[in-house]
Amino acid sequence: MSHLEFGSGVPGCATDGVWLTCIECGETFDPFAAVRYTCDDCGGLLEVRYADLPTWGDFGGRGVWRYADALPFEVGVTLPEGDTPLHEVPRLEEGVGVDRLRIKHEGMNPTGSFKDRGMTVGVRVAERVGVDRLACASTGNTSAALAAYGARAGLETLVLLPQGKVAAGKVAQASLHGAHILEVDGNFDTCLDIVQDLAARGEAYLLNSLNPFRLEGQKTIGLEILEQFRREEGAYPDRVVLPVGNAGNTAALYKCFRELVDDVETRATAIRIGNPVNAPKALPGIRETDGTAVAVSDDAITRAQRDLAEEGVGVEPASAASVAGLRKLREEGVVDTDERVVCLTTGHLLKDPDAAVEAGAEPDPVPGSTGGVLDHLA
Ligand SMILES: *Cc1c(COP(=O)(O)O)cnc(C)c1O
Ligand SMILES: [Zn+2]
Repeated sequence: MSHLEFGSGVPGCATDGVWLTCIECGETFDPFAAVRYTCDDCGGLLEVRYADLPTWGDFGGRGVWRYADALPFEVGVTLPEGDTPLHEVPRLEEGVGVDRLRIKHEGMNPTGSFKDRGMTVGVRVAERVGVDRLACASTGNTSAALAAYGARAGLETLVLLPQGKVAAGKVAQASLHGAHILEVDGNFDTCLDIVQDLAARGEAYLLNSLNPFRLEGQKTIGLEILEQFRREEGAYPDRVVLPVGNAGNTAALYKCFRELVDDVETRATAIRIGNPVNAPKALPGIRETDGTAVAVSDDAITRAQRDLAEEGVGVEPASAASVAGLRKLREEGVVDTDERVVCLTTGHLLKDPDAAVEAGAEPDPVPGSTGGVLDHLA
């Protein structure tokens, strides 16, 4: 990008070469002068834009902030996050039947999900705009991440969870990190409506994936995948497969590919698990990379969770949707045998211990003696 094009009536609104653009009408806004999550004019989703972006490959340092030149700050509120492993899974690779399969395990972030990458940027923005209360609606991992990063920044954190629908590990995290947890009598959408109302009234700073700054942190997943895969395999992957909730992560990966790596042809394939708020940002990504989206069954997800566990990679159920989806697309012939594929696993096994126990083997009761144990093993 060589020059800034501002919308009418917002002269010189860039702060340090960073601004927000409405993806529907193109109106631009100063990113830090006022708190806003959507376009004042048309209500469209906002996206972070930069006057200058670094050259691909021109990065130093570690984790998310290795890519600071492609982010709105030099450094964020950090624990630190990113630098997650890109596992080889030879048995699964053979079982699924692709040329190369790698697992980018985002469960290895500080609070056990990729949400940390977004929060390190999002909570930094909250500091910058000077709010004192952070809030999110969550099915679990967003609240765990927000609670930890809010605590790190010394800010008050409010999380709205749908009653009885959040896995034990995630509630435990939000609780111990000191979030004010509200169990709402309703589903996730009810929680999101309420938290958006609170944000609109200035009661709290909204850190759901509607917040465009979170996606900036999350786009570093794509950068890490490309750098790691290229270093270890000597080429870029042909396809990235990931689970979708609100499609924030899908949008973030697409933004990464679009901004920094024009020469990379990688397809984005999304496994839909919900009703995505960020669909207007994510769908063009799936289309323009010649990707696809499929739905997978709970049984297929459990099978994939076991397959990953057999390779020593422990993931929560939603995470395994990527592998379940890849298997399905292979069987349908959408993915070819000669493809190099990266599946994203988004959260750690311990997030949902109940699901893990259900998918795993039952312990055998034995007597408290060596003889009894030997008898049992025989
Ligand atoms: C948040 C989350 C998702 C969905 O991500 P979106 O950006 O909402 O599409 C998938 N898996 C896990 C484990 C998550 O925490
Ligand atoms: Zn607009």
